[in-house]
Amino acid sequence: MARVYNFSAGPSMLPVEVLKEAAEEMLDYNGTGMSVMEMSHRSKAFEEIIQSAEQDLRDLMNIPDNYKVLFLQGGASQQFSAIPMNLMKNGVADYIVTGQWAKKAYEEACRYGKANKIATSEDKTFSYIPDCSDLPISEDADYVYICHNNTIYGTTFKELPNTKGKTLVADMSSDILSQPVNVEDYGMIYFGVQKNVGPAGVVVVIIREDLIRDDVMEGTPTMLKYKTQADADSLYNTPPAYGIYICGKVFKHLKKLGGLEKMKEYNEKKAKILYDFLDASKLFKGTVVAKDRSLMNVPFVTGDKDMDAKFVKEATEAGFVNLKGHRSVGGMRASIYNAMPMEGVEKLVEFMKKFEEENA
Ligand SMILES: *Cc1c(COP(=O)(O)O)cnc(C)c1O
Repeated sequence: MARVYNFSAGPSMLPVEVLKEAAEEMLDYNGTGMSVMEMSHRSKAFEEIIQSAEQDLRDLMNIPDNYKVLFLQGGASQQFSAIPMNLMKNGVADYIVTGQWAKKAYEEACRYGKANKIATSEDKTFSYIPDCSDLPISEDADYVYICHNNTIYGTTFKELPNTKGKTLVADMSSDILSQPVNVEDYGMIYFGVQKNVGPAGVVVVIIREDLIRDDVMEGTPTMLKYKTQADADSLYNTPPAYGIYICGKVFKHLKKLGGLEKMKEYNEKKAKILYDFLDASKLFKGTVVAKDRSLMNVPFVTGDKDMDAKFVKEATEAGFVNLKGHRSVGGMRASIYNAMPMEGVEKLVEFMKKFEEENA
């Protein structure tokens, strides 16, 4: 068995310890004589799984008691519609568009109300985060929306926008649990888990209780109402049980590693290895404004399409897979989420150095 270094933007690497544990429990979870896949979501065993997953996430992120944690389906993209349907009370929201995911969320919100694009970095292929210290926030905006880490472009908010008192909603699909977050800065945080936490099929919503309402937009499907899901503790219908079980294992694993302060330290060190190399390299260069660089997604180019393709091909052969950049950007992208070991990045940089020498 040979594990590769998988630099995919998502779905992406999971901790080997977690995969091994899941394998051990595949046929018989904790003496139940069945796999978690075969188990009733109303069973005692599953109840324990989902409750401890929630508690461990609360511990990791220091989630205050007045926030609900929901384990839902439909991916992060489903939330692009659920958010305006549930949170647009006045029918108005302000969107900061820093990449494709924020843009999709904005476009979806336009279908349900008055969504304002109050800032964007589209003029420079989303290679920076706009100054958000004094934006024209709408008087009657129900919320301000950001994508906290831009998976495709490799930028991240190092400072939160000044929302002038409005509720902040954030998509943290690609940087959740990579560093501590002050949950109280947000009305709602959500993340599709397949980037930094677990298997695709689960999206987690962390939402302040006062934002959970019954009088949501006319026509909102029952399943998309946060109230439905909150009242049923995420068990309104059959949840993505196996995915939640794996997420729970990852939460436990992160706690064991020392929590989010420790992850931040580790991720900063890891990303620095790659950024330092890119800054010094004559062949490769990063595509993002240095101050807005993501710790999780690192796009880079050689400036020559054929050279890029040659690099991706040779890297793949050497066991560094999924380094091809997103189709909208080209070049390369190394996604170095929590589960990418330091050694993976060190070895990648060694490989890039060798490639640079050979192709000088
Ligand atoms: C991947 C990604 C999405 C889309 O996730 P799905 O679960 O496939 O809908 C949304 N936002 C961000 C930031 C992402 O990285």
